[in-house]
Amino acid sequence: MEPRILVLGAGFGGLELSSILSDALGERLDLTLIDQSDSFVFGYSKLDVMFGRETPDAVRVPYRHIAKPGVTFRRETITAIDPEARRVTTDAGTYDADVLVVALGADYDMGATPGLSEGGNEFYTVAGAERLRDVLPAFSSGRAIVGVTSTPFKCPPAPSEAALLLHDYLKTRGVRDACEISLVMPFGAPVPPSPETSQALLEAFRERNVTWVPNRLVRALDPGRRVAILDDDSEMPYDLFFGIPKHRVPDVVAASGMTEGGWVPVNPLTLETRFPGVYAVGDVTSVGTPKAGVFSEGAARVVAAEIIAVMEKGEQPSGYDGRGFCYIEFGAGRVGSVEVQFLSGQPPTGRYYGASLALAAEKKEFGASRRARWFGLNGPS
Ligand SMILES: Cc1cc2nc3c(=O)[nH]c(=O)nc-3n(C[C@H](O)[C@H](O)[C@H](O)COP(=O)(O)OP(=O)(O)OC[C@H]3O[C@@H](n4cnc5c(N)ncnc54)[C@H](O)[C@@H]3O)c2cc1C
Repeated sequence: MEPRILVLGAGFGGLELSSILSDALGERLDLTLIDQSDSFVFGYSKLDVMFGRETPDAVRVPYRHIAKPGVTFRRETITAIDPEARRVTTDAGTYDADVLVVALGADYDMGATPGLSEGGNEFYTVAGAERLRDVLPAFSSGRAIVGVTSTPFKCPPAPSEAALLLHDYLKTRGVRDACEISLVMPFGAPVPPSPETSQALLEAFRERNVTWVPNRLVRALDPGRRVAILDDDSEMPYDLFFGIPKHRVPDVVAASGMTEGGWVPVNPLTLETRFPGVYAVGDVTSVGTPKAGVFSEGAARVVAAEIIAVMEKGEQPSGYDGRGFCYIEFGAGRVGSVEVQFLSGQPPTGRYYGASLALAAEKKEFGASRRARWFGLNGPS
């Protein structure tokens, strides 16, 4: 009997894992992939929605396109995970697994930052990006703050991208001179593992008159006085606030007893949890890589190779190396890229590739290749 494989979450990690296993094992595979949503959205598409470059419908990739040998997709909400028994309960039934992979990503805790829901905005959900898209046309003068409220947070370059794209957006509307843009980040440099990338971003902020506020978090907003309160109790007045909300594991993961310090610990080489037969990949873990789709994919590739090795009685793969790259929108249609390496036992390092139109085309190809690999969709998005 082949093992029953249950994959929780059809994001970067779950989709990559299911695709690799299906390609390698075909009809021998017995894999159920569960997600509560009806479609997948690339994280970076939220920036496109916020600045009106794409509609929310255009950036959704419906799960109904999944048609892979050995893979059954179920649109259900997971309500309980028992990692000891490898039993999962959803709003539609119960599943028992031989191999369980938790790839449920990170949720947001909007209530954790006082005033954020009432007086601010966020662009880390499609709904939040859509609300900002509707608010932005009325913003023609005043102070905008892009502010991080907590660590860790997804895609560490995303706040910098938001500030640079906001500059472009306001400039195109002819109101940039009447607006101020500040970026509040908890790091000393925009992309700490790569001084070169950080330098390029700091230069871009200088050129565009974006005020960089390093080593600070936004602790609260006071919507009545329209001030953001930072973690050193200093205050910054704002007219429009773009928040990066506090991240946390989904409730069902928190209730499963799998977390320590808020995230799911795993063996960084194998991605195994402390429960036999239970793996975790991506944003839901505390593996030590940034919370970004490319790292979820990398971890999923390692788990896939381990499962294939067991089923094919082959050699176990070498461990996860925590290597990945991120595209960074600099504005004016140009995209830079940083290649980073974590988990090597040395401090993380990064290599920067300067912003160009060629990298913008490569980023498009990145999305297109995933649409093809995961959903069998070819052609432009
Ligand atoms: C603005 C922004 C820009 C970004 N840009 C980039 C970028 O350029 N490059 C990059 O690599 N990453 C980027 N990211 C980060 C990237 O989107 C995430 O890191 C990535 O999606 C994580 O993959 P994952 O598989 O761990 O989780 P996810 O992709 O979040 O998938 C988790 C899945 O679990 C499902 N789920 C959760 N709870 C339940 C439940 N109870 N029942 C059923 N299903 C459930 C969710 O519906 C979701 O589909 C960006 C993120 C944001 C917000």
